[in-house]
Amino acid sequence: MRETAAASNWSNWSGNVRATPRRIARPADEAELGDVIRSAPGPVRIVGSGHSFTPLVASEGTILDLGGFSGLKAHDSERMTAIVGAGTPLGQLTHLLDSAGQGLPNMGDIDRQTIGGALGTATHGSGLGLGAYHTQLLKVRLADGRGQIREFSADTQGEMIQAIGVNLGAFGAMTEVTLQNMASYRLRRRRRALPLAEVLQDFDTLLKSHRSAEFFFIPFSSHALHLTYDIAEGPVSTHPPEQDEDGLKTLKMLRTALKRLPWLRRRLIGSALAKVEPEDFVDVWFGAYVSERRTRFNEMEYHLPFEAGAKALGEIVTLMERAFPEVYFPLEIRSVRADETWLSPFYRRETCSIAVHHDAAEDPTAFFRAVEPIFRRCDGRPHWGKMHSLTAQDFAALYPRFKDAMEVRRDIDPENRFISPYLAKILGVET
Ligand SMILES: Cc1cc2nc3c(=O)[nH]c(=O)nc-3n(C[C@H](O)[C@H](O)[C@H](O)COP(=O)(O)OP(=O)(O)OC[C@H]3O[C@@H](n4cnc5c(N)ncnc54)[C@H](O)[C@@H]3O)c2cc1C
Repeated sequence: MRETAAASNWSNWSGNVRATPRRIARPADEAELGDVIRSAPGPVRIVGSGHSFTPLVASEGTILDLGGFSGLKAHDSERMTAIVGAGTPLGQLTHLLDSAGQGLPNMGDIDRQTIGGALGTATHGSGLGLGAYHTQLLKVRLADGRGQIREFSADTQGEMIQAIGVNLGAFGAMTEVTLQNMASYRLRRRRRALPLAEVLQDFDTLLKSHRSAEFFFIPFSSHALHLTYDIAEGPVSTHPPEQDEDGLKTLKMLRTALKRLPWLRRRLIGSALAKVEPEDFVDVWFGAYVSERRTRFNEMEYHLPFEAGAKALGEIVTLMERAFPEVYFPLEIRSVRADETWLSPFYRRETCSIAVHHDAAEDPTAFFRAVEPIFRRCDGRPHWGKMHSLTAQDFAALYPRFKDAMEVRRDIDPENRFISPYLAKILGVET
């Protein structure tokens, strides 16, 4: 087992969560994993690749790195299923699956997360006909709070998969998961700029009339980029160079330089966007979905009933442009299919997800605090991995099966080995 002996520092991707655990343990197999869970200083919190913005991973006891449980273990080319280590980074998983003739039906913006971490927080892409990663789950193998290995299968214990499909690392340490994939495919990705008025007016159609679609609203521009993704039969074409990072630098520069000339900022960005050449290319599935995100940010994302999306977006834009001129990161607007997983923010609800971002070097508190009531008024459920201010009481009201999920959790972890103060606060566990 690889581990750091003395207290060491840990921080997440954006740097807004830090911890000094007494141990960071990286067990090599399930026997070592069981030993750590039984004997390491608690609380024991599991880390994927640390891309969550909420303190889900932070622990003053032990941080458990499951990077040793990675890779493609087996696959079935007829059923299009694959058994993979839960610690596998998505960027590795995509290549492994593609080599086996399989593809993930959908992906989010990046591939840096692990599959275990993506399942942990209900990570999602866009598309009203497409579920989040946890909807692909057929089987889970995990170590429970006593370090014992348990297996659950959708065939025989469907309710258990619904109970633990989105698990926040509080329902055991997953070592292996079986995923329902599809045959590898190509995607045609198109991007064009649209005036905000058109986005708000044709919101439903623009999001619904493609396999997958999303908007990036550019602050102080009155425009959004509309991205669509559809299955393509043709050959792969040249993937244009990524311009997101250069675009962000320009937006930040204009924000800072034109602080006292907001009208000029709007005119410059708006006219540049109106002239953006549409982009259109075909790539293998993961090449079309995934982007690089080098500029660090913090993020809040809420999942709203789909029909509340357009109105909420309009309100957020008005608020941001009236009171938060420092914001320059785009807003991201997506849709997600409803599902049956108890702690899924998409539980029995077709969803419109709206995300706001803030430069990681600047304090996001005032902006996020002002935006959150707009999300709350629409009965929004926050992304478990992104910043929010909710506690167990709120979640119990937002999730009809919350109490049932907590009973299952208690059975898997009766001594609360996986419960940190933060987990106690959001799950209502008394320690
Ligand atoms: C740049 C960036 C882009 C992002 N893009 C998207 C996006 O497009 N869509 C979206 O929905 N989210 C997105 N996110 C959020 C991100 O997908 C989630 O926060 C995700 O959980 C991070 O995965 P991770 O591997 O880093 O897990 P971590 O953040 O390390 O952990 C997340 C949770 O999973 C648990 N966990 C991890 N592994 C296991 C395991 N093996 N067994 C049990 N529990 C485990 C942890 O304990 C924790 O509770 C993005 C985040 C960043 C920083």
